[in-house]
Parts: sequence; structure tokens; C-alpha cells
Amino acid sequence: MTPSLDLAALDRHIESHSERAISLLQRLCAQPSISATGEGLQAMADRAAEALADYGVSAQVHPVAGGPPVVVGEVAGRSTRTVLLYSHYDVQPVDPLDEWHSPPFAPTRRDDSLFGRGVSDDKGDLVVRLEALDAVRHLLGELPLTLKLLAEGEEESGSPHFGTFVDQHRAWLASDACLMESSGLAPYGTAPLVLGCKGLLYVDLSVHTAERDAHSGNAPVVPNAAWRLLGALASLKDEDGRVALPGFYAPIRSWTPEERDALRSMPSEEETLRHSLGLDAFLDGLSGLAWREQLHGAPTANVCGFHAGYGGPGTKTVIPAQARAKVDFRLVPDQQPEAVRDALRAHLDAQGFADVQIDRADGVGPVRTPPDSPWVQAAARVAADFYGRPAVIIPNSPGTMPMATLARALPDVPLFMAPGGPGYWGSLVHAPNEHIRLPDLVAAIKLTARLILAFGEMARAHD
Ligand SMILES: [Zn+2]
Repeated sequence: MTPSLDLAALDRHIESHSERAISLLQRLCAQPSISATGEGLQAMADRAAEALADYGVSAQVHPVAGGPPVVVGEVAGRSTRTVLLYSHYDVQPVDPLDEWHSPPFAPTRRDDSLFGRGVSDDKGDLVVRLEALDAVRHLLGELPLTLKLLAEGEEESGSPHFGTFVDQHRAWLASDACLMESSGLAPYGTAPLVLGCKGLLYVDLSVHTAERDAHSGNAPVVPNAAWRLLGALASLKDEDGRVALPGFYAPIRSWTPEERDALRSMPSEEETLRHSLGLDAFLDGLSGLAWREQLHGAPTANVCGFHAGYGGPGTKTVIPAQARAKVDFRLVPDQQPEAVRDALRAHLDAQGFADVQIDRADGVGPVRTPPDSPWVQAAARVAADFYGRPAVIIPNSPGTMPMATLARALPDVPLFMAPGGPGYWGSLVHAPNEHIRLPDLVAAIKLTARLILAFGEMARAHD
């Protein structure tokens, strides 16, 4: 960072405005915005837009057909180079309500912490970014580069309509880099950079073998839908557990040396996960680097649920006429959900399961930003400086995140999750008593302001 920057003045500004940050977060979290039920989403979008406007960010609330609105705002900076900052204003349901020590939508300060639904996930993120941009503007007189802020309202439900918004607003979304929801402090003392996520193809399968269920005395002569679908599901993997669809593995990129280095040096969650699930061992005895490579980089076919016939108490001798299953395929670069869906159909037909129907197939592609992207490197340097220890880089999340949807409009743009969230590993996100520690909120604003400054220097160097 340019030595002439007065970071002490920046931090003083942030500290002296910490009460303003807390009261904005309280105002945002006092408005319920429950993704699962839709409660308060429109009002929340309006409140978020007001908050943007209060910080001098020209804001708009875009309606989305069938889904909650998306709030966007933009602040021009000295450079036209642009970073897009993604967040979401919806929250998880609050049940079980009686386990909260203070009402979830009456944000409450206790022991230097702030309790309330959304304080960490993810309304705190928006507050951090607004305060950080305000501090940077105060320091420099203007932003060093252009920032676009976006807050969507259905992340906690898997963003089923966000793709519609993304497809309709490609021009507005155009940017040089995009930060997702920020990461919070992990138990290893720093917040990680997460450079990608797996894609997802989710399918509903069904088979109908007769007009109606039959007495199981007829089993020698009447087909059974459960056996048909079990056969089809079993055919999806070979004896080695590999997915048997034609061409499934062909598009897969191997790890680069930089990505493998990141995998090797990241703190492993292997033992934590094993203990939390009460497992003696992982699949195929996986451990160490191989465990990480598989967890973060292997595509999968997973049966989420299966339904057929009778499952109640006692005995019912029946031949089910119908069977249904839900299957998810997690995809890695450069697999694409449409191609996997087509391969699934071709595979079922070739295996003699033409009667197995694909009733639904929803998908989103995978994303992986290279660790040597200059935007990633800049964020990693800021994190390392700020925390006084090497940045943790997770090359690919095992799950699927909104960056997968944004990638549709931003191919080849670095998309990643950077430190800057006000939460920590104990924030109880999605659970009763979600909270943040107030010193973490101030630290997150300081870190985010440094990210904006570092990105601004990159923009200046490239203009
Ligand atoms: Zn979230």
C-alpha cells in the first residue's frame, strides 16, 4: 500500500463512527426479511436502499418476476475500473424462537456483542462495506475506483430467481472483479479467501410401472417401480464409486500447482467433520491432501431422497407402481449442468432405463478463480498484513454459492469471497442467538477499507 496513505487517520475515522455502524446494523436487523416465508422482503429491500442512499450511493430497487427485489447501488470513483460487491438482505427463519435470549428482530447489545437475526449473515456485510467506503472517501476525497453494491433477497433459499435478474442486468453487472458475501473469522485466526464453488445439477427422477399398486402375490409377473428406480440409481456409479455417465469426467480441469499449494497449506476441517458426524473413517479411507483434493475438487452423484411403496408400521404386501428419487450432481470446472443432464438421459436410455423420467433438472455451473489473479493477490496481501499471518486460500468450496449464478453474466471475471465479514466462527449463523462481537465489526470495516484502497491502487496501476 502506498506509504503516503494515512491509515491511522482512516482507522480513527472508522472508530469514531462505530456507533453509527452499530445503529445502522440495528435498523437493518429490526426489519424481518425471512427468505423461507417471504416475510418483510419488500420492506427490507426498501430499507436497504435507504441505507445506501444515506451513504451517498445512488440506489435502485429492481423488481424480479416471481422473486424478491434486488437492491443495487453504484458509486463512481477516480478510476472507472469497477468492483462489484455482492450481499443478501434475506435471513434464515428464527425457529426455535424460545431459544433466543432476546427477540431475533429486536437487535440487542450484550457483553460487547450484538444479537439478532442477520447481524452476521448477511446484513452486517452491507454495513461494513458502506462504512468502509465512507472512510475511504473521507481519506481520499473520493473512491479510488468504482464500486457497485448488490443485495439480493433469496440467498437463504438458494436464489431460485436471481438468475433471471442476472440475465436481465448483464450490462449493469459488468465489472473487473466481484466479491461475494465476505468471510468471517475462522478459529485459525484469519478469515479465508474462497476462490470458487462447485456447480449443481439437481434432478427429480420417477418411474411408473403400472396404473396402480398391486398385491405382491403378483410379483413373479408384475414389474416393481422401486426395483426399476433402484436399478437406474445403482447404474449411476461403477464398482469403484465413480460416476458412470458418458463423458462426465472429460471436461474436468486438474488442479494447478498454485491451487494445490493452497490446498496443502489451508487448515483442514477433516477431524472436525469426522467427529461431528461420528464417523470412524471417511469414504475410501480418504485423509490428508487426498481428502482435501476430493472434498474440494471431486464431482459427485448423490441420492438426496427416495420414495416408493409402503413405509408405515406393520406389514403391507404391495408392488409399488411408482417410485421417485431426488439426485444432486455437484460439478467442478469445466462441467456444465446442461451437458450432465443430457449425459444422464443418454446413460439411462443406454442402460435400458428409458422408462425412468427426468421430471425436473435445475442447474448452475461451477466457478474457480485462479489464485494468481491480481485481485486475489491484492486481497490476500491485505488479509495477511491485517491479521499478521499468511492468508488462507480455499481454492474451491465443496458447496454451491451465488457466485455460480453471477458467473453467467461475468465469465472470466475473478469472483471470490474475501475477508471482511463482521462474524466469527461462533456467530451462530442460521441458529438461535446469532451475534457478532462489536470489535470484530470495527475490524471488518478497517479491513474492508484497506481492500478498497488496495483495489484502487491496482486500478491506478492498470489505467
Ligand atoms: Zn449468507
